[in-house]
Amino acid sequence: MIPLEDARARVLADCPPLRAAEVPLAEALGLVLAEDVDSGEAVPPFASSAMDGYAVLAADVAGASHEAPARLRIVGTLAAGAAPTTPVRPGEAVRIMTGAPFPPGADSVAIVETTRAAGDTVEILEPARRGAHVRPAGEDLAAGQRVFDAGTPLGPGHLGVLASIGRERVAAVPAPVVGVLSTGDELTEGGTPLEPGKIRDSNRRTLLALLRRDGFVPVDLGIARDVEADIRARLEDATGRCDAVLTSGGVSMGDYDYVKKVLDELGDMSWMQVAIRPAKPFAFGVVGETPVFGLPGNPVSSMVSYELLARPGLRRRAGYPDALLRRPSVRAVAGGELRRPDDDRVTFVRVVAEPGPDGRLRVRSAGGQGSNLLWPMALANALAVLPPGPGASAGDEVDVLVTS
Ligand code: AMP
Ligand code: MG
Repeated sequence: MIPLEDARARVLADCPPLRAAEVPLAEALGLVLAEDVDSGEAVPPFASSAMDGYAVLAADVAGASHEAPARLRIVGTLAAGAAPTTPVRPGEAVRIMTGAPFPPGADSVAIVETTRAAGDTVEILEPARRGAHVRPAGEDLAAGQRVFDAGTPLGPGHLGVLASIGRERVAAVPAPVVGVLSTGDELTEGGTPLEPGKIRDSNRRTLLALLRRDGFVPVDLGIARDVEADIRARLEDATGRCDAVLTSGGVSMGDYDYVKKVLDELGDMSWMQVAIRPAKPFAFGVVGETPVFGLPGNPVSSMVSYELLARPGLRRRAGYPDALLRRPSVRAVAGGELRRPDDDRVTFVRVVAEPGPDGRLRVRSAGGQGSNLLWPMALANALAVLPPGPGASAGDEVDVLVTS
């Protein structure tokens, strides 16, 4: 058996990032930026008012109070979108709305709540601090400043910032196109009655969904029979048109585990026994230039090996920097006993993680822990990481990977 870290290193070594391309902002959500972006302009582009009120000179209203208001002449109105024209001179005020450009001459905003207007005169009832409620130009971004480094995953806020500096397109790593192939003579699909010995294919549905959740582009490659020619034809086709391929099943020691034989003929594969539970058997290699992940067939194992081994590799292909390839582990409190077998593998216990009464994350077993038991896996939203040893009792701290 090899440690999980070694298996992951083997994967990452052969999952180079895809070539970057220019993409419109509208298609960039979730992609990783492939260029350093500097701002060509200041944001906000001009000084503006942060409140509705009056642009005034602080000196004019320094002694203002409700009893002795400062009386100013209103010389204009500025709405958002207007260009500032009217300058403000001593004894004058300009009515101004939030977002309107701040007029020359003035230095602060008296908010409308502390004023009383009558005709073309306004009474200011409180002093205004110099600069109060004025947003300076470039307060968020200065012209010429670095905004985002290459390697930044683009979220909604990033897209907003790029829009705010007028970037319509960016260089980004495209989302990897990932094929999913189920293998096994026992597998059927659809809701028709099951024939003897058959089961329904659940892994493909799960893996396609995991890929979609993680921002990759899933491709359904169907079910290959336990027949060499079928497996070979599907894998040759898939590796020719996908950026990575996931197979499930056929990587163990069974008589009909032909995925192993075919992949060995097609590519440069490593067959691993990873020191984890579930998901001990795992295959990885390259066919042509396409990484192929041979995930175990047991439904829980295929999900866990996707999470621990395939996902980091696919994220690397998607351009994520090293620090963001794996999910961070967080500390949680065991809400009850978390058992693990007495062996030398790291056990990943399927758990439900919820905030406890003290606000800290608490985890409890999601149910049966057999690698064939998909239901508890579906109910779980996290994996508790239990190294070899006695497991955890209620109240113990454990490391947890929150997966959804
Ligand atoms: P294998 O790795 O092919 O030996 O399969 C291990 C176990 O996982 C067997 O019980 C298979 O029937 C089951 N299995 C394999 N592929 C799937 C699948 N796509 N959906 C559900 N169960 C599967
Ligand atoms: Mg099989």
